[in-house]
Amino acid sequence: MAGEGNEALAIGIDLGTTYSCVAVWKHGRVEIIPNDQGNRTTPSSVAFVGSERLIGDGAKNQAAINPANTIFDVKRLIGRRFSDSIVQEDMKLWPFKVIEGPADTPKIVVNYKGQEKEFLAEEISAMVLGKMKETAEAYLGKEVKNAVITVPAYFNDGQRQATKDAGTIAGLNVIRMINEPTAAAIAYGLDNKSDIVGKINALVFDLGGGTFDVSVMTIEEGGIFEVKAVGGDTHLGGEDFDNRMVDHCVTEFKRRWNKDVSGNQRAMGRLRFACEKAKRVLSCTSQTSIELDCLHDGIDFSIKFTRAKFEELNMGSFNKCIEILETCLNDAKMKKSCVDQVILVGGSTRIPKVQQMLKEYFNGKKLCKSVNPDEAVAYGAAVMAAKVSGCSDKSVEDLVLFDVTPLSLGVDVRGEVFSVVIPRNTPIPTSNAKTYHTILDNQITMTLKVYQGARSRSTDNHLLGKIRISGLPPAPKGVSKVLVSFEIDADGILTVTGKPISATKIERLVISYKNERLSKKEIEKMINDAEKFKFEDQEFKKKADARNALEDCLYNARNKINDDNIKKRLRPKILKDIEKSIAVTSKWLEDNQAAPFAEIDCMKAHLEFACRPLL
Ligand code: AMP
Repeated sequence: MAGEGNEALAIGIDLGTTYSCVAVWKHGRVEIIPNDQGNRTTPSSVAFVGSERLIGDGAKNQAAINPANTIFDVKRLIGRRFSDSIVQEDMKLWPFKVIEGPADTPKIVVNYKGQEKEFLAEEISAMVLGKMKETAEAYLGKEVKNAVITVPAYFNDGQRQATKDAGTIAGLNVIRMINEPTAAAIAYGLDNKSDIVGKINALVFDLGGGTFDVSVMTIEEGGIFEVKAVGGDTHLGGEDFDNRMVDHCVTEFKRRWNKDVSGNQRAMGRLRFACEKAKRVLSCTSQTSIELDCLHDGIDFSIKFTRAKFEELNMGSFNKCIEILETCLNDAKMKKSCVDQVILVGGSTRIPKVQQMLKEYFNGKKLCKSVNPDEAVAYGAAVMAAKVSGCSDKSVEDLVLFDVTPLSLGVDVRGEVFSVVIPRNTPIPTSNAKTYHTILDNQITMTLKVYQGARSRSTDNHLLGKIRISGLPPAPKGVSKVLVSFEIDADGILTVTGKPISATKIERLVISYKNERLSKKEIEKMINDAEKFKFEDQEFKKKADARNALEDCLYNARNKINDDNIKKRLRPKILKDIEKSIAVTSKWLEDNQAAPFAEIDCMKAHLEFACRPLL
């Protein structure tokens, strides 16, 4: 039960491209949980500095001076192949190194403790999720295991599985994954209960840091949410707008000084940081400037940015958002005049041009800005977490959610034709089956490739895996048949089974994600690694605290020994012994930077003992 007194058992996490947010249902309402810095959202960044690992604000704050070892944007990498053209394009802009791992998986390379270390995107995401888990635990004062994690509605199965694996590596039990716009609609529905009379049609427009999602749904009085259609682009968001500003600055630098700044990672990190800041400023003023001292080759760089220039650079993306929105409305068979509420979610919906274009598209309709664009997704996830864990609060208990599958699912048939088994925008959970016949005489096995996507040529879609069905009776081609069944669960995760149609003994084959997801063994190893990292972080902190305490002790001893009144009352021999002890400890501290916590503590005890006469 997650009701009163027990509410903290499940949390909701919005794992964003640039920022993440965690929330919990407590005392009959949602509470957004602030992190250790007091911030309600946490940067989805992880940094490695010498032998220290930083996650969140600490990582983002030092990004400009440690670009190669500060990882961000992993949501753009998770569940994708290294050879994916999107990964190849992103890599050109990332200051950190990404290499090709086994089975076309991308691996992130960092320098940690003086050595090169490789991480999968799942592991970095797990670090961010682990931070969100810790944030919740510190706030709630108890261990948290169960969580609902949100994903972009337009994420494919591979990306969903990888996100779920990241949760497992972080020590979480992922009880449900829900789509980000659906979570935001839940937040809206709960916050605006009194405005929802009967049934309303809502459109959630979610433009975040890395992804764009649009969802058309109905919200019924009493809390029934039914998704009609979703659309989106898993690679369109605020980061793209930042990148275009960065590109513009690089071109301008080249024009003015005939020098290429793009190879200077540190300069690029500083530029990116400044551009993101300028972009936010441009949401409230029409002009701003970027000034960076000594950016490259000792040259100071300053540039004026107008809102008009920003809009010109990003108009292509803004138009794309409207096109996707239109397709989604068509898929939902809903006229734009029938949309009652246009709900804005995601930090990038603060951009005035985006709001203006949306308003114009809906013929001057007022846009709904009542949900907090940065927190609504986590808010909805927390409600869902309470619901799934059996909370008895009426508003949670009554909530019913009907979601859809964002992309069509099917198999590849002869001539690379995509044979759809479950069409996109089918309500989930769902299942469907189709029969396929042999294409060769005496064919006794059949291997079918399973794809997900919206294109009619299967190879243009996302390959999920292969299913091999054996035991077909030898017969002329076209005679033997297999039955292939697709089943999507409430998390949007797919299981494919197949069997020869004539078999009396039912052969059940579950789709193998060998190349897509991590094996149980690999996940276990990563869980152990994550625990090891956590332990190392704690050890590092303990050591840093011990060093600080010893430095404080030295500082106090030095101050006291220089105090004439204290000096006067001590015998010269004692004074000399104390001075010697201070000098020895200072030297030791300087020479033993890597000393373990216990040794530092021991030195402190010695110093305190020697300094007793000063008390
Ligand atoms: P989210 O993924 O929803 O947290 O959105 C984060 C994205 O929103 C980042 O790319 C931010 O730069 C962007 N963002 C946040 N505030 C603003 C703003 N005032 N104007 C423009 N973009 C913003």
